[in-house]
Amino acid sequence: MKEILEEHWHHLPDAEVIELLETDLNRGLDTFEVGHRQAQFGTNAITQKKGTSPLVLFLMQFHQPLVYILLAAVVITSLLGEWVDSGVIFGVVLVNAVIGFIQEAKAVKAIEALAQSLTTTATVIRCEERRQIPATELVPGDIVLLQSGDKVPADMRLLTTRELQIDESALTGESVPVQKQNGLLPHDTLLADRLNMAYSSTLVTYGIATGVVVATGNSTEIGRINELIASADILTTPLTKKIARFSGLLLYVILGLATITFVVGILRGESWLEMFMAVVALAVGAIPEGLPAAVTITLAIGVAKMARRNAIIRKLPAVETLGSTTVICSDKTGTLTQNQMTVQELYAGGDLFLFSGTGYAPEGQITRDNKAIALPELPALRECLISGLLCNDASLLRVDDEWRVEGDPTEAALVVAARKAGLERDVCSADLPRLDAIPFESQYQYMATEHGTAGYRVIYLKGSVESVLDRCSNTLSRTGELLPNDPGRCLRAAAEMAGKGLRVLAFARLGREISSTALGHGDVAGGLTFLGLQGMIDPPRPEAVEAVRACQGAGIQVKMITGDHVITAAAIARQIGLLGDAGEPGEPLALNGRDLAALSDAELIGVAQRSAVFARVAPEQKLRLVEALQASGNIVAMTGDGVNDAPALRQADIGVAMGITGTEVAKEAADMLLTDDNFSSIEAAVEEGRGVYDNLVKFITWTLPTNLGEGLVILAAVFAGVELPILPVQILWINMTTAVLLGLMLSFEPKEPRIMQRPPIDPQKPLLTRELVIKIWIVGFLLLVGSFGLFEWELQQGSSVAVARTCAVNLFVFGELFYLFNCRSLRHSIRSLGFFSNRWLLLGVGIMILLQLLFTYLPVMQNAFGSQSIGLRHWGLIIGTSFTIYVVIEIEKWFRRGQLARTEC
Ligand code: ADP
Ligand code: MG
Repeated sequence: MKEILEEHWHHLPDAEVIELLETDLNRGLDTFEVGHRQAQFGTNAITQKKGTSPLVLFLMQFHQPLVYILLAAVVITSLLGEWVDSGVIFGVVLVNAVIGFIQEAKAVKAIEALAQSLTTTATVIRCEERRQIPATELVPGDIVLLQSGDKVPADMRLLTTRELQIDESALTGESVPVQKQNGLLPHDTLLADRLNMAYSSTLVTYGIATGVVVATGNSTEIGRINELIASADILTTPLTKKIARFSGLLLYVILGLATITFVVGILRGESWLEMFMAVVALAVGAIPEGLPAAVTITLAIGVAKMARRNAIIRKLPAVETLGSTTVICSDKTGTLTQNQMTVQELYAGGDLFLFSGTGYAPEGQITRDNKAIALPELPALRECLISGLLCNDASLLRVDDEWRVEGDPTEAALVVAARKAGLERDVCSADLPRLDAIPFESQYQYMATEHGTAGYRVIYLKGSVESVLDRCSNTLSRTGELLPNDPGRCLRAAAEMAGKGLRVLAFARLGREISSTALGHGDVAGGLTFLGLQGMIDPPRPEAVEAVRACQGAGIQVKMITGDHVITAAAIARQIGLLGDAGEPGEPLALNGRDLAALSDAELIGVAQRSAVFARVAPEQKLRLVEALQASGNIVAMTGDGVNDAPALRQADIGVAMGITGTEVAKEAADMLLTDDNFSSIEAAVEEGRGVYDNLVKFITWTLPTNLGEGLVILAAVFAGVELPILPVQILWINMTTAVLLGLMLSFEPKEPRIMQRPPIDPQKPLLTRELVIKIWIVGFLLLVGSFGLFEWELQQGSSVAVARTCAVNLFVFGELFYLFNCRSLRHSIRSLGFFSNRWLLLGVGIMILLQLLFTYLPVMQNAFGSQSIGLRHWGLIIGTSFTIYVVIEIEKWFRRGQLARTEC
């Protein structure tokens, strides 16, 4: 193909566009040409703009208040000629920045990779066939079919459109969808007004269309502006913001304390240099420098764990919110059930037929009153099956002795049912080729197709019983005559099927005048002939039954939301355990969409809380439901897959989109995707979310006492007018090594036992409860007393200051090391967790001990950090005191456990 330079596709006639692109509307490109063009134009992907350069990201690591203080300390110590100190402080700042940089980059990359692992598919015509291909394989000239819910996969000139509406906010910022239409436009039409074009990355919110690809990858409009991924605040969540605020506050407190300390010291006649070092030590010690990185890393580990359990996080804050979820509103079909439909019963011409066989294998018998049937004698049965077969977009494939379906399982079941009666689609559609169609949309609850040959036209309609029956004026009898319709009888037959948990579809047909107008909803408004009902089984997922039980044990309500009939929904809900036996006192309600619509917003709040099943729900009603549930203080997770689900997904605290069956529009709106569309993955994510929250709290509870202890030690020393028990560089050493080797390992802590037997985390509750604050003070105080006491004791025993300081430093490190084991769980004892269940932590502890030995005995370290070799007696004191802290906290935990057991009973 010639190099295409044409950029103004909108003002060319359709035929010319097709000709220029050397393609064909009906046949599409052939395989050879596709290969050729792929080589010429490359893959249809946008090369990522280099975000912020690594250098800038690295420099950003220094852009933190704490680091400013440290850098100031570097400058001043070197001005004072304290080269060792200034070198060590600078070294620590550098190491800190490198670690922060690497970890942050890794976290961002992991999260972005997850987001991108979700491939968009496109429906194309190639080699005269309709195919689903990954959007990356598109080339200019491809004929693409669009339908509501799709993401436009490349820039396209539209050739046919039907009520097409596109949300172009990704490109233009305008969020009101644009009504598109084909036709010519003036040359100078602005991008936003080019109604005959569809641009890559915009979202189809309504209608269908065919278009021809004119630009792919970086040549698309979005590729040129290349602002697809806004990764700037990918790592911020409510919690990280809270922590940033906390750090900010802490900074002022510390600066205040530092000033007081400085003034007090000078007034006492201490030297400026000494006081300056003390103030630096105070600042360095009291700021929890490991905190932001630890939070990010814990969240990133949570994201990875969730991904392993089929829940992909699209927005990081969801990781936190999951642990607080109090209500999960889940779709029924495919999420709580297997979406493995098999027609079991068919009602036509007043007869009930039973189908044997399971799954999609088209093998099985059809019987009436236990007797095999003869199809030609039963025109109503035959027509009912044929309408199901023709008003259908699914197909059945045989892959290695296994039957698979492509398309909607509900429709595939109809193909299988027809096959069991010996009806093949190829044969039927040769007689009655399809001319036009209205695709199924939940809000209309039906699908219609028009078929015909030169002299004959017929429309087949299938859909929910209500939507079809309303349109019928007569009914086909067993022998094929038209009788007046008897809706009461049909509804009874449908209710009987639904009561068994079957999903019921009704079928109808209408003869049509030969006309050229497109098939519209008006054409099937009335006068149809009722053909029959088919009832299909869709068994619950066994794992969903378990997951629902787990949620209920965890204080999370599960609600079923479905477009299906209320009787079917209730029957399935009973099997899953969402509803008890009918008539049980206090049983949750099963409601219809119509009942919901009749309620005022205020009434809905109470009803939503009390109901477990919402049937025949229109997508718009999902939004109202979310709002009603949130109004009573719930944290709501809501699933969705269609275009119209997007507002509800956005409103929900956790919008959950289906990875397999979900539309691109729903995925864009969601906070989380399920790669397996399975309810149990939501439950798994909640479990992981609780674990992440636990680990964050553990880290914070572990890290703060150190800062408190160090701050107190310095304050106490200055106010008592004695030598500093720990030097600034030593404090830096403690904070940097323990944060990475000890604290961080808490993010690998496995989930606690019985994590799903606790109530959801109350988001209003502060991260640090009163009990934790008390614990932090206890440990901080013990560290102060231990290290200060040990330092003074050693001086009195005649040890040098360096030895006494080395003892104090080691006391801090070993105190934290033992306390780390306390913090592995805030409620359970180590024995119930298993000593070896967190191997990372043991590894960290091992390395930490080794480093402490180097710190104490290696001459280089002694020079840098002012440490000194110590003897066995010292170690005895250090380990003894540290271990006491451990014991005190275990006793405290034991007390709390008793309290907890009493309050939870
Ligand atoms: P859900 O996904 O919650 O089961 P749907 O909105 O898919 O609900 O379906 C609602 C009703 O629409 C079903 O009970 C069925 O009667 C009808 N229906 C479902 N799928 C189709 C389809 N492909 N064609 C026609 N009618 C359908
Ligand atoms: Mg559905």
